[in-house]
Amino acid sequence: MAEPKTMEHGMTVSLVDTLKNKLDYDQLTNCMRCGFCLPACPTFRETGLEAESPRGRIALMKAAVDGIMQPDAAFEEQMDHCLACRACEPACPAGVKYGQLIEQTRDSIEQHTVRHRWWVKSARKMAFEGLFPHPRRMRLLGGALKFYQKSGLQKLTQGTGIMNLFPDELKGMEKIMPEATGTGVIKEIGVRHPAKGEKIATVGLFRGCIMDIMFTGTNVNTVRLLTEAGFEVVIPDEQTCCGALHAHSGEGGGAKKLAKSNIRAFKDLGVDWIVSNAGGCGALLIEYDHLLHDDPQWKDDAAWFASRAVDVAKLVVEHGRVPYFEADSQAGVRITYQDSCHVRNVMKSSEAPRKLMRSVEGVQFVEMEDSDRCCGSAGIYNLTQPDMAGQLLDRKMDCAKNTAAQYMITSNPGCLLQMKLGISKSGMENEMKAVHLVDFLYENMADKK
Ligand code: SF4
Ligand code: SF4
Repeated sequence: MAEPKTMEHGMTVSLVDTLKNKLDYDQLTNCMRCGFCLPACPTFRETGLEAESPRGRIALMKAAVDGIMQPDAAFEEQMDHCLACRACEPACPAGVKYGQLIEQTRDSIEQHTVRHRWWVKSARKMAFEGLFPHPRRMRLLGGALKFYQKSGLQKLTQGTGIMNLFPDELKGMEKIMPEATGTGVIKEIGVRHPAKGEKIATVGLFRGCIMDIMFTGTNVNTVRLLTEAGFEVVIPDEQTCCGALHAHSGEGGGAKKLAKSNIRAFKDLGVDWIVSNAGGCGALLIEYDHLLHDDPQWKDDAAWFASRAVDVAKLVVEHGRVPYFEADSQAGVRITYQDSCHVRNVMKSSEAPRKLMRSVEGVQFVEMEDSDRCCGSAGIYNLTQPDMAGQLLDRKMDCAKNTAAQYMITSNPGCLLQMKLGISKSGMENEMKAVHLVDFLYENMADKK
């Protein structure tokens, strides 16, 4: 429930006031209520409820701002149920920037709500402020996780049944957690990497925070793919967490702080492109200009950054030399692809990954039904809204099964883990493997030297 906030000067500010202050009223009125977005929205498709649709949520936001309704617990719930997948945006003929509206709403709610228990708030504060922005601490965490996984402690934990004390979602996640490293891409291969052959451009790699300790190998393979495609790659060590989890959880202030650190780290290097291999991070990087648009000191640099941020597959296809890919031991293998919502709907990269997968000799690409529909991962949505996330995942796995593919390829670590979870839950471990697009491409790159 939202409660008024007492300001320093003694006045109380309600959630309505904050919504009025934060929400872009032009965007709210841009919605002409045509409903074209409804069939694209996963929560509407699951429930058939107007309040669970983009049009319904926009109407609720507007009603709150116009004073027609008081935003209550049900209002907060409808906003929480949104996956922020942004599938509604490409479907909207009026170009309503729904992603910005939901972030502004969540940001407002976060300032007033008391519905999160103190320990949830503390855990989030610890992770968002004390962990993600600090690469050294993240590496220490990676080292601890590696010890847990390699020392036999994980097997012991699973064997004792202690995990049964935790919710099913956490239990499932623990089981499919990838092997962590205590290193990160820079420790593995260094900062600067020359292009192979004639250099096309210089690319800064955004390594991510969780990405770098849980998927170090994918970051390493991204560098190898990019250098093969003709790019010089540099990985600034001063970069930090992108801020996406902060922004999506209504902590805009934290996201802005991190954005400024990243802009500084990449601006100093003067790179031509800033490449991301994780949809969730990339989608915020590409919108740093919006995040900092009202900061006169930062808005130009933020625009510089956002205009260079790009998805790795899109960069290779549109500006690089596509390497030669050939499957040797996998002749005749079938693969399919789950779009990362943020790569598709925000980074506008859906054709490029398919083009790359189709270019692998000896591999058959099969399009999955509803491949553009959210898998339910959506940041930490699968932990905060397990029912809807589980429903979406079950539906996704039905579609996956119909492809009879041996590889489920995806472009975002969250989706990758969700696909692993789905494969494990539906007992398909012997038939299907989930792999990041970059790892799949590198594995099949003819010239790996
Ligand atoms: S972001 Fe996704 S879940 Fe939210 S309203 Fe738009 S389509 Fe629906
Ligand atoms: S498609 Fe766009 S204009 Fe139409 S109802 Fe949805 S958000 Fe509003």
